[in-house]
Amino acid sequence: MNTATVVGSGPNGLAAALTLAEAGLSVTVLEACDEIGGGTRSSEALVPGLLHDHCSAIHPMAVGSPLLAGLDRYGLQWQLPEFDCVHPLDDGSAGVLHRSVGTTADGMAIDGAAWRTLFGGPARRFDALAEDIMGPLLRVPSHPLTLARFGAPTVLPASALARVFRTAQARALFGGVAAHAFRPLHLPMTSAIGLGILTAGHRHGWAVAVGGSRRITDAMAAKLTGLGGRIETGVRVRSASQLPPADITMFDLAPEIVADILGDRLPHRVAKAYRRFRRGPGAFKVDFAVEGGVPWTNSNAHRAGTVHLAGTFAELAATERAIHAGRMPERPFVLVGQQYLADPQRSVGNVHPVWSYAHVPNGYTGDATEAIIGQIERFAPGFRDRIVGHTVRSTTAMAGYNANYVGGDIMTGAKDIRQLTFGPRVTLSPYTTGAGGYYLCSAATPPGPGAHGMCGLHAATTALADLGVPTTYHIVQQHN
Ligand SMILES: Cc1cc2nc3c(=O)[nH]c(=O)nc-3n(C[C@H](O)[C@H](O)[C@H](O)COP(=O)(O)OP(=O)(O)OC[C@H]3O[C@@H](n4cnc5c(N)ncnc54)[C@H](O)[C@@H]3O)c2cc1C
Repeated sequence: MNTATVVGSGPNGLAAALTLAEAGLSVTVLEACDEIGGGTRSSEALVPGLLHDHCSAIHPMAVGSPLLAGLDRYGLQWQLPEFDCVHPLDDGSAGVLHRSVGTTADGMAIDGAAWRTLFGGPARRFDALAEDIMGPLLRVPSHPLTLARFGAPTVLPASALARVFRTAQARALFGGVAAHAFRPLHLPMTSAIGLGILTAGHRHGWAVAVGGSRRITDAMAAKLTGLGGRIETGVRVRSASQLPPADITMFDLAPEIVADILGDRLPHRVAKAYRRFRRGPGAFKVDFAVEGGVPWTNSNAHRAGTVHLAGTFAELAATERAIHAGRMPERPFVLVGQQYLADPQRSVGNVHPVWSYAHVPNGYTGDATEAIIGQIERFAPGFRDRIVGHTVRSTTAMAGYNANYVGGDIMTGAKDIRQLTFGPRVTLSPYTTGAGGYYLCSAATPPGPGAHGMCGLHAATTALADLGVPTTYHIVQQHN
């Protein structure tokens, strides 16, 4: 029987493990922490019974993932909030994102037509589109025309594409989602991640996992163990000598860590590229327990799973530019998650878990808690008085929590044009390391961050093809 070791039990590690186990391999997962799940862990650390997601919270890209399909048998259920996302402005108005393109456009006055033009077609054809955008970008597309129509605006800077909208609300709404790329919004291709998230959201909604994001990887782990796979926690792999002999070894890790572990086993040029892997800005996370929820001024925000706090597009663009240059803005971009609206069992009585993080410079050593509270207060006066407890994870604590998040970079690498297109090195085979039998499957590889598991699926498919083992999935790829 062929054997495989997967290092790291994040969604991509478990996705790779599942794909390998389904193909008949004997799979062992080694996880450094005592708990599996990487960026999908959740806990009741703040108030007993109050459930917080430590990292991933909202899942427009994961809910339709083929890798996660059928995991309802293992306890994975999705729920949608009433509104997907709201971006409030200082005058009390807001950009409001609904699952439906039509409803979103109808609420946008003069910008409705532009929103329909941009998202109507791609959202309708998202299932076909996903086959091409949820994997390596440089390969023969399955649906070239659909991809070409979707792809044209993705090359634009978000600041250029935002100009198709004339209202401050629509511009800000688009900008807040584009800023998930953690890139200065005037740079080319900074529309790509936002367009991908918005289109996926219009197809599937901005779903939350019932019972916390941990349910995503709990379900994957349950299916894996049912297939005979084993998971060992509390095992931090630091060198290749710790790795058991296996036909395939898969790393759900950042490239720099893989370079340290594999040392001389990596070809020199690959090791050099992995060590030069570029990092993006950091995230400073604060979870709140809030009596009565957040007292938003804009009534739509009370019904939204996600609230983006940054003010206008121009203000957002300035803060994103600042953090990229290493400067902490006074009013950073803050993302607020109200998952309990879709999944009420996360609350305790009238106390609700409110998830938030701010975009900050990579490795930021200050305390951004007050800046986050200040941004929420700006759009919800009285918020501070409702806080009954909070926990903080700084950029350095983030890296301690998960070694992949160097300097608080929760994207597992800067998503600049080169790394977004190729992954950590310029190659048509982003999952191979150049060392036989060793593969990279983390969010550093295409299609990138998120709890969708698609990096793991593609990496495992590549490894199985190299081993000559047939799989149900097929990706067109070349080696160099
Ligand atoms: C604050 C925050 C908010 C986020 N919000 C969202 C969101 O709303 N929606 C969304 O889709 N995504 C979100 N993400 C991103 C998402 O969580 C990640 O993209 C995703 O978890 C990446 O999965 P992965 O499997 O590549 O790696 P990870 O989840 O990083 O898992 C890697 C695993 O490897 C383990 N490990 C590391 N080093 C070693 C070692 N040497 N030996 C053994 N094990 C090791 C780690 O402990 C970890 O369990 C968020 C992330 C953070 C931190």
